[in-house]
Amino acid sequence: MTKRIFLIGHPVGHSVSPAFQQAALDHYAMDVRYEAMDVDASSLFQAVASLRDPDVMGANVTVPHKEAIIALLDELMEEACLIGAVNTIENRSGTLVGHNTDAQGFLRALKEGAGFDPEGKTALVLGAGGAARAVTVALARAGVTALVIANRTLERARALADVVRPLVPSVEAAALHPEFLAPAAANSRIIVNCTSLGMSGATGQEETPIWANLIPSHALVCDLVYNPRETPLLREAATAGAWVLEGLPMLVYQGAAAFELWTGNEAPIRVMLEAAEKALKSRQPVVG
Ligand code: NAP
Repeated sequence: MTKRIFLIGHPVGHSVSPAFQQAALDHYAMDVRYEAMDVDASSLFQAVASLRDPDVMGANVTVPHKEAIIALLDELMEEACLIGAVNTIENRSGTLVGHNTDAQGFLRALKEGAGFDPEGKTALVLGAGGAARAVTVALARAGVTALVIANRTLERARALADVVRPLVPSVEAAALHPEFLAPAAANSRIIVNCTSLGMSGATGQEETPIWANLIPSHALVCDLVYNPRETPLLREAATAGAWVLEGLPMLVYQGAAAFELWTGNEAPIRVMLEAAEKALKSRQPVVG
């Protein structure tokens, strides 16, 4: 019987996950299909119930269901609980277990892509949405000593700061404004963009959350936005002489962790990365 793994979200047509997950399954010649399922809020309950079928190995979950889906699952792993969002579901003989592999994917991207260990470092996280929650929890657990979370909506930054305060010696929330960003950036060894600024097709696709004059050359600047690969922020960081890390490796590593949960096989990273790069290229608009 052909097994299935789904991507649940709305919309899902833009996602590159089907391309690189199917490439990994094909690499092992597994009789498994990874399929995108466009599910709006009104049909989420029904879609989740269908994941209990014996031929379904699990699912990925993307915007806008990462939080709402928690109430429909049977078990939740500790990290997903702390982050407050699920991006991966495992079907264990009809029991649906929720995981979050974004934090793990981010830390692996830091290590493999930049040789960066957050332990003992200071960090500035830009944004306070779902991705920022995963990154903030990842940095906190990896041992950062000071963390500033800056967001357009200050209340959301404050709420996220409260989540990680027990784990980090110094945590501050700030508005996404140069007045507050300047001192925080100057003291940071790592700056991570978790806002959607710079993302192709989003409001603010030409914008950067922070500018070259505020970025210290000793910092590692990571952008979670992966389409386009070279974002306005990464250009600012390069101008400032800082190190840069793009968002695509994290996307692949969070997917790799999910692949390993479903299949028990080691994820073929190179195969997945190449498939993701190819899929992304085919989605970029041709200019000129
Ligand atoms: P989300 O929950 O909707 O959060 C969006 C964040 O962006 C919020 O902090 C929001 O601020 C901020 N924002 C949106 N528009 C803004 C604007 N015009 N000016 C300033 N701030 C703005 O989304 P998410 O799931 O966290 O995803 C955020 C980004 O990360 C997306 O581009 C997504 O593709 C990317 N991502 C990448 C990976 C990866 O593996 N590389 C994984 C997850 C997400 P407010 O709170 O004020 O609204």
